[in-house]
Amino acid sequence: MAGRNFLFVPGPTNVPDRVQRAMVVSMEDHRSPDFPTITHQITAGLKRVFRTESGTPFVFPSSGTGCWEAAVTNTLSPGDRVLAARFGQFSHLWIEMCTKLGLDVEVVDCEWGTGVPTNRFFEILDADANHTIKAVLACHNETATGVTSDIEAVRRAMDAAGHPALLFVDCVSSLASIDLRFDEWGIDMAVSGSQKGLMLPAGLGILCASAKALELRHTAKLRRAYFDLNDMLNSNATGYFPYTPALSLLYGLIESLKMIDEEGLDNIIRRHHYLASGVRAAVQQGWGLELCAKEAKWYSDTVSAIIVPEGVNGADVIRRAYTRYNLSLGAGLSRVAGKLFRIGHLGDMNEVHLMAAIAGAEMAMLDCGVAVQPGSGVAAASEYWRNTVLL
Ligand code: PLP
Repeated sequence: MAGRNFLFVPGPTNVPDRVQRAMVVSMEDHRSPDFPTITHQITAGLKRVFRTESGTPFVFPSSGTGCWEAAVTNTLSPGDRVLAARFGQFSHLWIEMCTKLGLDVEVVDCEWGTGVPTNRFFEILDADANHTIKAVLACHNETATGVTSDIEAVRRAMDAAGHPALLFVDCVSSLASIDLRFDEWGIDMAVSGSQKGLMLPAGLGILCASAKALELRHTAKLRRAYFDLNDMLNSNATGYFPYTPALSLLYGLIESLKMIDEEGLDNIIRRHHYLASGVRAAVQQGWGLELCAKEAKWYSDTVSAIIVPEGVNGADVIRRAYTRYNLSLGAGLSRVAGKLFRIGHLGDMNEVHLMAAIAGAEMAMLDCGVAVQPGSGVAAASEYWRNTVLL
C-alpha cells in the first residue's frame, strides 16, 4: 500500500529517526574497557526518568513481562500474600503470573474502566494486623482500558494503615509520559519496557528497585535464574552485564534518554496531557462517543479506549482502518474485545501526527456504520489544541 503506515497502537510506539539512526551500529566487544561508559550513561539517564536518587535501575533483554517476573521473584517467597486489583488485561496478567509463581494473591476485582481502589486497599491493609501481605501491586496505567491510577494515593493508603508491604508499580505504559515519582511515592519496584514512552523498539525490560526491595534478594525464596538481580548488580557495578547485552537497543536508549533530557520530563508529561485532551475532545465532543475510562479522574494521557456503539464490532473498525487506510489502531483485549478500539498517544507525537489517527478512525467508523458527523473529531481536536497553551 502506498504511503506510510500510521502506527497508533499504545506500544510499540513510533521510534524517532534519530533513535533509529543511533541503533545502526557495528557490533562491538561487550567486555571492552570502553563498554562501561554505555552502562553508566544509561543508569544515570534512567534514574532521571524514574525520578530517583536512591533507586537502582536495571535493563534486561526482555520485555516488560520479564521485569514483572524479576520484581516478584527477587523479593518474595512461595506462599507469600500479595494484594492486587484487577481492572483490565494487564493488571490481570500480572496477577496471573504471581499465581503461577506460587504466590497467594488477594485480588480485588474492579469494574473495567476504573483503577486501583485505594480506599479498599486501605481497609485490607489496615485489617492485616500481622502484616501477612508482603507486597501491593498497582498498575499505574492500564493500557487495555486507558485508565491511570493514583499511585501517590496508594502510597498514602499504605502509610495510613502503617503497613510495611512493598509497593510494586507497573509503569510499562506510563514511564516517561505520565508523572511517576519513584522516590517521592516510596515505590519499591517499578516495571517498564522500552517500546512505549522510551520510544524504542520492544526488547528491553526496564526495572527500578529500592534499597529495601534489593535487600530482600538475600531471603526471597522464589526460584530465579536469568532474572536474578544479584548477577545483574555484580556485573553492573563494574559497568558490564552478566551476558551479551542488546547493544543496538542500548545505543537507542542512550539517544532516547538524550531526547527526554532535551525536551525535559515535565514538558513531556505536559505534552502528553495536552495531546490526550485533544483526542478526548474528538471522542466526546466531536463524535459523541464514550471512553472506557468511567470518570475523568481515570483518564489516561497515553491511551484512549473508545467504546463503539451497540451493534458495531470494534474489531471491524480496526480492520477497516488497517486494510483501507493503513492506520494501526489498538484492539479491545479480552473482556472488552470488539467493544472498543484504542488510540495510543504516547511517545514521539504531536498534534498533526495525531490528526491522522483521528481522521483515519473517523473514516473507518463511518465505513463501518458508526453515525459520527464527518470531520467532527478533527474539528473538536483542532478547537482544543488551537485554543490551549501547551507550556
Ligand atoms: N503492563 C502494561 C500496562 C502493558 O501495557 C504491557 C504491554 O503492553 C505489559 C505490562 C506487558 O509488557 P510487554 O508486552 O513489554 O511484555
